[in-house]
Amino acid sequence: MAQTITQGAQVTTGDYRRQAQAELARLKASVPINGRARNVIIFIGDGMGMSTLTAARIYQGQKLGRDGESFTTAMDSLSHAALVKTYSHDAQVSDSAPTASAILAGVKLRNGIIGLGPEALEDDCAGSKDKAIPSIFAFAQGTGRATGVISTARITHATPAAAYAHTPQRDWEADSDMPVAAKSAGCLDIARQMIEQPVGSKLDVILGGGRSNFLPATTPDPEYTDKTGRRTDGRDLVAAWRKANPTGTYVWNERDFAALKMAGDGKLLGLFEPDHMRYEADRAGDKGGEPSLADMTRTAITRLGNRKTGYILLVEGGRVDHGHHAGNARRALEDAVALDGAVRAALDMVNLKDTLVLVTADHSHTLVMSGYPIRGNPILGIIRGLDGQVVKAKDGKAYTTLGYANGPGATVDAPRSDPAATDTIALDYRQQALVPLAGETHGGEDVAVRASGPMAHLFKGTIEQHSIFHIIHAAMTAKVGGAN
Ligand SMILES: [Zn+2]
Repeated sequence: MAQTITQGAQVTTGDYRRQAQAELARLKASVPINGRARNVIIFIGDGMGMSTLTAARIYQGQKLGRDGESFTTAMDSLSHAALVKTYSHDAQVSDSAPTASAILAGVKLRNGIIGLGPEALEDDCAGSKDKAIPSIFAFAQGTGRATGVISTARITHATPAAAYAHTPQRDWEADSDMPVAAKSAGCLDIARQMIEQPVGSKLDVILGGGRSNFLPATTPDPEYTDKTGRRTDGRDLVAAWRKANPTGTYVWNERDFAALKMAGDGKLLGLFEPDHMRYEADRAGDKGGEPSLADMTRTAITRLGNRKTGYILLVEGGRVDHGHHAGNARRALEDAVALDGAVRAALDMVNLKDTLVLVTADHSHTLVMSGYPIRGNPILGIIRGLDGQVVKAKDGKAYTTLGYANGPGATVDAPRSDPAATDTIALDYRQQALVPLAGETHGGEDVAVRASGPMAHLFKGTIEQHSIFHIIHAAMTAKVGGAN
């Protein structure tokens, strides 16, 4: 993308008034959809805070050659919204474990913990035994609904794990991650919970990364001959899943995924990388190929949609978070745009009269969008002012619209470089940051939840994150076709 300035769609006073009147008419015509949500699709952009939403909107519009600032994303098109408080039981700024559990299990818990109430302490296996809190996936399975979990991260990572696992340590993804004491106290690693425990073993569709957590350390990876599994208990959990699901299908590359019968009704397990799946920006270069988040979403909706009693599906854009931690806004924005593509794919397929679609984030990041760039300035570019000239800071150097409060983009005891001397739009460019840290951190401000479909109108004002579970539950149990 060249550093050029695009022209906005609205150019006159009349244009803006007509735009606002059209929006007003749309808002007045919007009526709440009461009745039961037969189906629920929950999209979580990991780390997709407000500044990421705005920057990704502009980025998506500019990539399409449109006016980025006024562009409407699929997420923007949802009818209702609320602000969401993301603190955890014990932290002002939270990680994905308690926040995903708040969304999916309805309680605030401590940082680092998945699916156990606030009484449970991190790493305390013995003390966690009676603290499990059931997720909305457990509830959905109890009502006969089909269930699916998709993530571009490892499928054992905190956010997807919150759908099916209970653990006092989010890092216990494979048995080799666990201390001996936790194993002997009877705790199971997250991968094993997914294959053996009630909720995980009943999942109809599982698509994501993290294959190595399911394979023995002695088993070579099918895609990378120099890699093996990570398990030291000798268990091959992929083989165990296939044995337990003789009519199911296991895939690990894009070719086999693309050859799937879309409407096939057996269970589906797809593990496309030993670790996280690729960033969207790097996906085309993958050895075995990987489906896009939109492709996985379409396949899941088609297969889960066979269930007469409905379904619930979690779709996580897991690597928005990782791009930010690396101080690399472009990869984060590309993944946010990919998640928006998955939302668009879902909205094209479902009937909002019976399907609640919501999009939220577990927590934010320290990304800021600042300065006074001219309208249409490339969102990843250096700032040009309203006169089109590069704006200089007090040190005589240019600066970018996007930056981070902390992270690897900061210099230690050295002046910052001049971003005008480098290509700030390049894929690997790291935005400048203030406080030097190895990894950029999460942000603690509110995030958005946006929704359409049955009971979506309950998402309004400013709400607690764990209320999201209770709103979803209310939508799933509302009187069919009735008021509440
Ligand atoms: Zn994170």
